Formats: sequence, C-alpha cells, structure tokens
Amino acid sequence: MTKVIALANQKGGVGKTTTALNLAAGLLRHNQSVLLIDLDPQSNATSGSGVDKEDITNDAYDVLIANKTAKSAIIHRSDNFDILPSSTELAGAEIELTKKKDRQTLLKRKIAKEKTNYDFVLIDNPPALGLLSLNSLTAADSVLIPVQAEYFALEGLAQLMKTIDLVKEHGNSGLTIEGILMTMTTHTKISRQVVAEVEKHFPEKTYEITIPRNVRLTEAPSFGQSIFDFAGFSSGARAYNKLVKEIISENGKEDSKPS
Ligand code: ADP
Ligand code: MG
Repeated sequence: MTKVIALANQKGGVGKTTTALNLAAGLLRHNQSVLLIDLDPQSNATSGSGVDKEDITNDAYDVLIANKTAKSAIIHRSDNFDILPSSTELAGAEIELTKKKDRQTLLKRKIAKEKTNYDFVLIDNPPALGLLSLNSLTAADSVLIPVQAEYFALEGLAQLMKTIDLVKEHGNSGLTIEGILMTMTTHTKISRQVVAEVEKHFPEKTYEITIPRNVRLTEAPSFGQSIFDFAGFSSGARAYNKLVKEIISENGKEDSKPS
C-alpha cells in the first residue's frame, strides 16, 4: 500500500522543504520507493533534489491546469526515486484552479494511478492554505507538520488543524495527522519551552524526535545533496534518520536496512 504524506504548514521557513528532501532521501536509503511532488511555486524541492530546468518537460502546473498526465511530468532521479517538479508558473494555478469544478480533488485524481508505483509519496507544499494545499491535503493519507521551535510556533497551528478538519469533512475523511515535527531546535530555554508547549497542546501528535538547528541542513541542497550524502554524521542527519525509521515502522513498512 502506498502512503501519501503531505508536508504542510502555511508558515514559510519552518522546514517543510528540508524535511521533504531529507525524508525522501532517508526513505530511499531504507529501500523504500519514493515519489516527491513539489507543489510549491518556489520550487525549492525541485532544485534541492538536483533537477535541472532542462530536464523538465511538464511540471505540476501542466498537470493541474494544462491537462497533462502526472506520468508525463514525473522525472526519474535514481533507483526508487522520482520527482514531479514544480515551476514558478504554478503560482498562477492558485487562481486558475478556482475556475475548475474539481478544483480541490484534481491532484488526487491525477496521481491515483501513478502513486501505486511507490511505497511513499511526499508532497511539499507552499506556505499558504490555498487551493494548492487543499489539493495536497485531499490527495494525502496523512499530514506531517513541521513547526519551527521559536516564539510564535503555535500561531497558525489552530488554523491549519481547522483546515485539516474541513478537508476531512469534505472529500478526504480518512486524512490523519502523521505527526508534528519540531524543527530548528536549540539548547536555549525558549526553544525547550516552545517544544514543551506544542507537546502540551498536541500530546499524541508531536514526535519525540526533534530536528536540531544544523547549518549542514542549509548547505546540503545547494549541492543538490541530501543531508545523508552531504554530512552523514551531522546532528541533522542523525535526527532525520531517526524520523525516517519511525515513519517506516509507524506505517508498517519493512525496513530492510537495519541501522
Ligand atoms: P519551508 O519549506 O517551510 O519554507 P525550508 O525547509 O525551506 O522551510 O527551511 C527554511 C530555511 O531554514 C532554509 O534556508 C533551510 O535551509 C533552513 N533550515 C531548515 N531546517 C533547518 C535546520 N534544522 N537547521 C538549520 N537550518 C534549517
Ligand atoms: Mg518550502
């Protein structure tokens, strides 16, 4: 069974793309097949996984708006790893989608056949709760919510939870919360307080694993590399590897690389 996980938080800069890229890379290292869908017009997941613009024939915009198939847009990156790329054009999709009758269910329908080829489909989202994110939540089995461990962490989470409930009522009753992931944690008191506060509000949902602030995570994508290839012994790599193992076991997948 394929598991479709949307990485969502309408706040920008909280670690959605970093988590999408390294989760994808980590799952691959544990012999899971992965499709990464980049649904953010900023295209950071596309460039961060080393895709050249010249290699893109169709992108997420063409699939959602120009009636191209998902298959025609998917780029084969390596063994077990494909990506459905984004482009800046996708920004226009937000408005063009409003004209479509199936504006919220389009992505779900478009990837229905293709997704069965993978163990995991990860969808990276824009920092907004617009139609692109709604498509993603409707197409997903679960949502992974990266939350930056800083002062206003909880702000916006209530609205995101409300949106998730709305999607559950309209179109995707099976949607669950994969987990809330605290990112960019530090050893400061404020960081620990924020993590504790989010855990208090969402005790069952918040991962015990947190992702520390680690400059290696910032550097890796500019080399088109995951944290595991770029700095395998860094604190960031260790934390994401733990997350990967937890997600594999939580989803009842077989992890054939014991480490
Ligand atoms: P989003 O996709 O939610 O906008 P990003 O994943 O792009 O967020 O992260 C925002 C910025 O923070 C990027 O420059 C990224 O490299 C950096 N970053 C993300 N996670 C970490 C981390 N754990 N430690 C240090 N920098 C991080
Ligand atoms: Mg991003």
